Amino acid sequence: MQNQTYPSAPASRPAMIAATQVTATHELPPLPFSFNALEPIISEKTVRIHYEKHHKGYIDELNKLIADSEFVGMSLEQVIQATAHMPVHEHIFNNAAQAWNHTFYWRSLTSLAATVPSRPLQVRINAAFGDTAALKKELATAATSQFGSGWVWLALDGDRLKVVKTGNAGNVMTEGLIPVLVFDVWEHAYYLDFQNRRVDYVTGVLDKLINWEFAAHNLDAV
Ligand code: MN
Repeated sequence: MQNQTYPSAPASRPAMIAATQVTATHELPPLPFSFNALEPIISEKTVRIHYEKHHKGYIDELNKLIADSEFVGMSLEQVIQATAHMPVHEHIFNNAAQAWNHTFYWRSLTSLAATVPSRPLQVRINAAFGDTAALKKELATAATSQFGSGWVWLALDGDRLKVVKTGNAGNVMTEGLIPVLVFDVWEHAYYLDFQNRRVDYVTGVLDKLINWEFAAHNLDAV
């Protein structure tokens, strides 16, 4: 990975200009690594299905749901904020948030196992958790205790890092927090590789695949 740049959030694409009409559609962002980059923790088969079927599916469904609605032309973040906590828009929120969360999840992972927190990030981790091992332990506890589908976040709450879990498509930005890292704990993220052993998937991800460079980037962008 050379000088990879990370948009601070998955941007929706600008309106696609056609000869006779203007349509705005959300597109599947490129995967930031090859399909087999996360092996042996997460298999090529899991990444391929997760990205090409699940992630793409949320984006395709979102585009169908918002066609000809007041949400056309909004960024993904704007759609998420505009539909959060509104039962009438629950289906749109779920697909928009799942689209955003997956893009953020892929960027939260890297095969470069040697990456470590930058100095400023380490200072923040130590202030909030004591040390990196304690942070990983808190992330693991949140991931294994989330009942059913959901996400585990490292997020900025004010000026302090904290670990938060959300159910289903939940996203901490709707609670005023700033996402720093996210880990998918839906069964489709690990079932082919680990079956019911979520703890083994979580342990592998936290030990080998955390993209600390992405976390530092998200804090720098605040
Ligand atoms: Mn997923």
